[in-house]
Amino acid sequence: MKAAVLQEVGRLEIVDMPRPRPEPGGIVIRVEACAVCGTDVKCYHSGHRLIVPPRVTGHELAGAITELGKDVKGLAVGDRVAVAPAVPCGECVYCRRGIQSMCDNLTAIGYHYDGGFAEYMAVPPVAVRNGCVNKLPAGVSFEAAALAEPLACCINAQELTHMGLGHIVVVIGAGPIGCLNVQLARSCGAAKTMLVDVSPERLRMSAIAQADLCINSRQEDAVKRVMAETGGLGADVVITACSVGAAQEQALLMVAKRGVVDFFGGLPKDKPTIHFDSNLTHYREFYVVGNHGSAPRHNALALSLIGAGKIDTQSLVTHRLPIDKTLDGIGITERAEGLKVIISGA
Ligand SMILES: [Zn+2]
Ligand SMILES: [Zn+2]
Repeated sequence: MKAAVLQEVGRLEIVDMPRPRPEPGGIVIRVEACAVCGTDVKCYHSGHRLIVPPRVTGHELAGAITELGKDVKGLAVGDRVAVAPAVPCGECVYCRRGIQSMCDNLTAIGYHYDGGFAEYMAVPPVAVRNGCVNKLPAGVSFEAAALAEPLACCINAQELTHMGLGHIVVVIGAGPIGCLNVQLARSCGAAKTMLVDVSPERLRMSAIAQADLCINSRQEDAVKRVMAETGGLGADVVITACSVGAAQEQALLMVAKRGVVDFFGGLPKDKPTIHFDSNLTHYREFYVVGNHGSAPRHNALALSLIGAGKIDTQSLVTHRLPIDKTLDGIGITERAEGLKVIISGA
């Protein structure tokens, strides 16, 4: 089968490799859609602490089951499924508490196991056992289902921010994660959503998210504008969907008293420190949270929201490429020429 293999940092090759076979308790799927993520760009250029090359990357994916390992129950050949890439162990203290995204023994498809930039992919037994394989609701395309993964991460984030009815929400960063967060906030009953970015091009592409207001923070002071839009109160929830320390600092200045700031995007590892005047949270009693990945149940919920038409992930897809062009897909994502690029072997 054809696969895009990260041979070493900065070298991605299209190779012909043997089709994977299912382990007992595992399955094999034909990958129908695998979306390129910002993380794929990072892994290509800088590697990842959990990836030991050679490795097939790609972790936002959906496909059809072609083979079942021994003793797999509840799934059948031909089933259309999405696979949650973050695989919890199911046994550590965090898994037992139900916060599988914080699993102490977390492994991930596209990192520890070969991922979705290939014609076929094996899903390991630990993933099948822990609920990472979910059937697609009727009418959901493989492309829309592949984007259940980033949506699952947004659901995790918005659970942590207690997003809810009547909230005024600011999302900084108008990429795919920003767009999904805006859509999700609207479906949670947010009264007003504002999307902030420095790029007019990004803000134009993000129109599909239907934010109530777009703010170009290169042309105007985003903190001032948010305070003006909220009658001086600030936003109930501010989510930073970018990897920029200055955006995190702005978020701390535009959140309302008792509001919540969520640092969704991590910062570059050589620049992880921000200026945080702790008296802000002392006097204004706001919360600051972060989020990392998602649990299998977030992926299942993401699929049902997509299936019910509450979140339109399909409209985020701007490019479609064959496996041979995976590197082009990484380039398009890196240069922010589109929102989501789908790689497909079909
Ligand atoms: Zn991703
Ligand atoms: Zn665990």
